[in-house]
Amino acid sequence: MKYAPIRNYINGEFVEAATERSLDVISPVDGTLLSTVPLSNNQDLDAAVQAAKAAFPTWSRTTIKERVQVFFRYKALLEKNLKELALLVQEENGKTYDEAVAEIEKGAELAEFACSLPQIVTGEILEVSRGVECRTEHVPLGVVASIVPFNFPSMVPNWTIPNAVALGNCMIIKPSEKVPLSVGRLAELLQEAGLPKGVFNVVHGDRDVVEAICDHPGIEAVSFVGSTKIAKLVYQRATNNLKRCLALGGAKNHLIVLPDAIPGMTAQNITASMAGCAGQRCMAASAMVAVGPVDHIIEKLCEEARNVVPGKNLGAVINRDSKERIERYITEAEKLGAKVLVDGRSPKVEGKENGTYVGPTVIDYVTPDMAIAKEEIFGPVISIMRTKTVDEALAIENANPYGNAASVFTQNGGMARYVMDRASAGMVGVNVGVPVPREPFSFGGWNESRFGVGDITGKSSIEFWTKLKKSTTKWNPEAGINWMS
Ligand code: NAD
Repeated sequence: MKYAPIRNYINGEFVEAATERSLDVISPVDGTLLSTVPLSNNQDLDAAVQAAKAAFPTWSRTTIKERVQVFFRYKALLEKNLKELALLVQEENGKTYDEAVAEIEKGAELAEFACSLPQIVTGEILEVSRGVECRTEHVPLGVVASIVPFNFPSMVPNWTIPNAVALGNCMIIKPSEKVPLSVGRLAELLQEAGLPKGVFNVVHGDRDVVEAICDHPGIEAVSFVGSTKIAKLVYQRATNNLKRCLALGGAKNHLIVLPDAIPGMTAQNITASMAGCAGQRCMAASAMVAVGPVDHIIEKLCEEARNVVPGKNLGAVINRDSKERIERYITEAEKLGAKVLVDGRSPKVEGKENGTYVGPTVIDYVTPDMAIAKEEIFGPVISIMRTKTVDEALAIENANPYGNAASVFTQNGGMARYVMDRASAGMVGVNVGVPVPREPFSFGGWNESRFGVGDITGKSSIEFWTKLKKSTTKWNPEAGINWMS
């Protein structure tokens, strides 16, 4: 085993979990046993809640100007330790080193946004009648929880940590049991940056601890990022317990390609979107809707896809189950008449025979009724559906229950606007394969890609992590004159 068994991080210390359940952590890169992760129980969670509760009065009364100083230092530490953090992400998640670097850099950008919060969360004040003032201010909620998925072991935790904590909350994070190592390093860096004990805690585990988080009366708000099936369960359970909840789910992102799209740029963007992070991104292109005569673009797309090589510029998928599931989707679609133009099934990756790789796959003549067209694949696969008109393409996009992202590729501004206005997705793009808004803009989908109100990053997250206090004060505006005379 490469690393020591993982521990929870509670009240500024790495502690043995009370649970006796644990799981092996296996690297998807080559099958190495990296560590074991505890599957914490109610007692472990409660210890973290008590630590966070104890830290809250002091942390919430620390001014936001002081609180963000921790995140200036945290950002610098992410940058200083970039290489080591990226290698850890690569090892536990299987993505390429460059993708892992981008993930850490994005974490630094998220910390940077948190540093700007004092400039953004100023409240409002108005003299509403002579001597009477109304004032609003954003105040923290208390103890909050963040439950995160496997596909971004460092970045998704950083979607929530800097904003929630800088806004004055104390946090418990539940990393994915598939990639539990990176968050432990983030805890060490937060401590090095000067975050007081108990403000940030890590409780590892699986379903049991997620359910305990939803049920614990000491937790005020739960953010969740993961699949739609679990997002629904968490949203229902947390809100049933009268907690605030924002649960981001899965995705099925459509790229609508019109015949006037620039072929090279379009093919590059689609390939990068579908194969980046081995397709394990909630913003990955999964369906291409080809409108009219676009064979010349599909040819270029196949050329681009063939340049993506597993084990070189394409990482592994998370585990064997995932690999088998993705390959099953391809085989089933083929059986139903779809045409596999670039076939990524069972690639040979020399020296990494125990890694879990799927090569880039382009599959044409997919029809909207096939499972590969309807369900989230979460692998480096793009399904092409053919339509004659933009409205037919939009009907396909609109019919899918998700709503994270959609893009259109065209040189016609009017057509671009037409598609953007009608696509049923929270994040839309023109000639962009991955339309992720960058800070200070916020990240969040629609429909079954998000349950709850607001977004998880950027300005919109402020509403989620705080509550508004409204004060009304009345003083005699003439009192000073009386006193002076
Ligand atoms: P997942 O839903 O399996 O797991 C997410 C979290 O839920 C993990 O911490 C896991 O331990 C926990 N969990 C798993 N099963 C549970 C259960 N039965 N009850 C309670 N908790 C449970 O997701 P994943 O496979 O880790 O991540 C991939 C998914 O996340 C994809 O669907 C992807 O689209 C989605 N995702 C969405 C976004 C977004 O912004 N919308 C971002 C990243 C990932």
